[in-house]
Order: sequence, then structure tokens, then C-alpha cells
Amino acid sequence: MSDDPRDVGRRDFIIASLAAAGASAAFAVSAGAANAQDTQDALTPSADAGLGTAYTGDVVRGKKVVSALNVNDLAPGQKHFLYFQGVQMPTGQHWYVSVAVARGAKPGKRVVLVSGVHGDEMSSVHTVQTVMNQLEPAEMSGTVMAVTDVSSPALESMQRRWPNSGRGIDLIDMNREWPGNENGVTAPSRHAGLLFNRLLRPNADVAIDFHTGTTGFHVSAFNIASMDVPEIKAMVELYPVGQTFANHAYPGVLHNAFVDAGIPAFAPEVGAARVLDLEMIPLFVEGTMNVLKLHGIIAGPMGRTSKDSGVFIGNSALPILAIQGGLVEHLVKLNEKVEAGQKIAIQRNGFGEVVAEYTSSVAGEVAGQRSDAMSEPGNPLAFILFNKTTAGDAEIYPE
Ligand SMILES: [Zn+2]
Repeated sequence: MSDDPRDVGRRDFIIASLAAAGASAAFAVSAGAANAQDTQDALTPSADAGLGTAYTGDVVRGKKVVSALNVNDLAPGQKHFLYFQGVQMPTGQHWYVSVAVARGAKPGKRVVLVSGVHGDEMSSVHTVQTVMNQLEPAEMSGTVMAVTDVSSPALESMQRRWPNSGRGIDLIDMNREWPGNENGVTAPSRHAGLLFNRLLRPNADVAIDFHTGTTGFHVSAFNIASMDVPEIKAMVELYPVGQTFANHAYPGVLHNAFVDAGIPAFAPEVGAARVLDLEMIPLFVEGTMNVLKLHGIIAGPMGRTSKDSGVFIGNSALPILAIQGGLVEHLVKLNEKVEAGQKIAIQRNGFGEVVAEYTSSVAGEVAGQRSDAMSEPGNPLAFILFNKTTAGDAEIYPE
């Protein structure tokens, strides 16, 4: 989710209105972030990944291991499969991250595709793998790098968050850690810093960070993007999906870390967690292939775009939170239009008595729904994508 509207679990759920920040603001922030990064790099002399590839000398399951990568060091016209050496586990072993590179025969733009920042979002991984499998480096002008398992320890148990042992058992949301800190106070923060400084940022002219809904909460097919940035808008419009969440989302999410570094980026959301949605995945594969055509990396006519899918664009997502415990029955479906005041769900107690009725206070479209039928108070039951017309800094929804 990355902003993932699925992250409604956090305290102070803030949904900024589109009007709150403009493109110039986004890139002004970026200059500050770059300076901070320079300072960090100065503290970590070995962190300068932009200069070259560092092979550790290890080979794991037949794949060479790198601790830094410059895709321009790889042979052109070929695919390359490497492991990136992430942070260490308590045993001193490293977490490795799978890196696939399709290096075109001719020079061109470099696109980075990321999935697995959350460990239960399998359709996002499959989307990236499918795109990579369709690429023919001999025919390409430019490079596509895919990283599919950023949070390996979360993927091990197919759960959203990284199980960290720093202060006893803790679960860390990796999509609040970016751009990370190689000298940070948690292993996930260091892992994010290593990846961002030595693998992701140095090889990206454009980046796409794929997500899905989260366990217990599924979402429609949409992109989260700063649509007021022309370079980002041009890419997002190439996806034949039903919704766009035009919102700057939170600090700390990976696609915003890229934007802060001056790299256009956004986050597709590919349906439900835990499963492969084989009907939805092709929409995002088609959109991503369109993006590669837009940047001249591959040739061919554009596929279907958001014009063909009649996309609904909203700048805010209203979370409707449970006020009781009990069994939830939805009265609307994903992508369905709702009116202000429309009842969207009811909840029953153990006797079957209706203990709560939920209505939407806004007109919009259903973008996410709780898929676990039981709920306790405070859980989001639905997100309604809508257009907030009042100019304001942000709306804060209590959890
Ligand atoms: Zn996610």
C-alpha cells in the first residue's frame, strides 16, 4: 500500500489534498533530501554506488552477489541475474535481494521496477516478473532493472511487515523507512539505506514501486501518484485501470523517496494481497510495457491506456472505520460508485442483531474493502476514492 491506502492502520492517518502541494514543492523537497543524502554518504565512504559495481566474490545459488551495482557495467544486449547483499541477520548471514537486469543493446533510459517492499503482495511480484519475461534485451534501447523481494524476511512468512528483533519482537513497515539510513538504528532502516543508495537510486531515471492491498483488506486496480508532476502523470495515464489516486501520500514511502531524489515515480496497486490476480496483473503489465514504449526502451504501438478503461481520478480516500466488533457485510463492491449518505456496510453481533450501519459521507468510488469478515472497532472497512474540493492542508482521520 503505500500510500497505500491500505495503511490505514497507522495513527494519524493523513490524507493530503492534491491542492496541498504542487510539483514545485515536491522537487524543492528533493533538493533538501539530496543534500541530506550527501551528508550521509560522507559518513559512509563506501556508500558511493554511483561509481561502479562491487562484487563481493560470493556466488549464491549460482548467482553472483553484489554490494553495489551500476547497470552500465553489465554486458549490453543481455539479461543478468544477481543477488544484492542486504543487511545482516542476527546470525551474521545476509539477506539477499533478487535483481534482474535487462540491459538493452543500445543506450537509453533506465527504468527500475520494484516489488516485495511488503511481504504479502504477490501480484505485484508477478507483475514485475511478467514484464521482465517479455523483454528482449537485443531489441532494447535502455535498461530495465527489477527487484522483486525487497523485504525478504517479510516474504518468508508472507506477511506485510519485517520481523525485527532489535527490542524484542517488532514488526516494521518497510514502506515507512525510505530512503533508509545505512547507519540507522534498525536493521530494516539500514537495509533500505543500502538498497536505495547502492542499487535503486543510482540506476533509476524512472521508478515504479508495485504494491497490492494488504492481508484482510483488498483494493481495486489503481495507481497512487503525484499527478501534478507532468512526467509522472504521463506514465500513470498509460495504465488501462479503473482508478487513479492522485495524492502525494506519506513521507517514507519508496516512490516518494525516488521523487524526492528527482526521479519520477509512482505506486501501482494490484488488487488483493496473498494471491495472484491473473485478471488484474495483465492490466499492469500492459501499462508498464506502455511506459517502456513512452521512454523509447522498447518499440511497438501503445496498448490500452486509462482512456480505454474510463479511469476515475480522485484526490482523497475516505476511510470508513468500524465502530463495533462483529461480522461485516458489505453492501457495495469494489469500483462501485456511491453517493453521499449511501449505506455501504452493516455489522452484526453474535446474535445476528445489526449493531452498526456504515454510510459514506462522500460521493465517489469504492477503492478498498476489508476482506476479513470479522472486524474490531477501529479497523477500516472501506476506502471511498473521491475528490476533495475544499482547499486545505490535510484531513486527519482518527483511527
Ligand atoms: Zn505494499
